[in-house]
Amino acid sequence: MNFNKFQEACKRTANPNLTYSEAAMNWALGIAGEAGEYCELIKKSEFHGKMLNKDHAKKELGDILYYVAMAATNLSIDLESVAQANVDKLTARYPEGFKSGGGIRHINNDHEDDGC
Ligand SMILES: [Mg+2]
Repeated sequence: MNFNKFQEACKRTANPNLTYSEAAMNWALGIAGEAGEYCELIKKSEFHGKMLNKDHAKKELGDILYYVAMAATNLSIDLESVAQANVDKLTARYPEGFKSGGGIRHINNDHEDDGC
């Protein structure tokens, strides 16, 4: 499945009656909530002696992706371009791939550097 097909599939279960602001909140809080669920799995596997259930982890990652797709939809951005923009950003920042000590930081970005 490609990103844009996934994004289309996500719309099937999204409430179509939300205003822009309601949807922005719903999808943003959904990302945070599902990221928390994923983090809880990792916490339990790393600190509580529980085996990481990869099937469960996969479902939580999918839940995060769902909300990311819907957040992009609310901004009228296709998910493929979100993915490509991230690849482009990281390619520019880390032209040689991972390197201990970090990558190239750009001054005058109009947003906070997220470290990705
Ligand atoms: Mg979940």
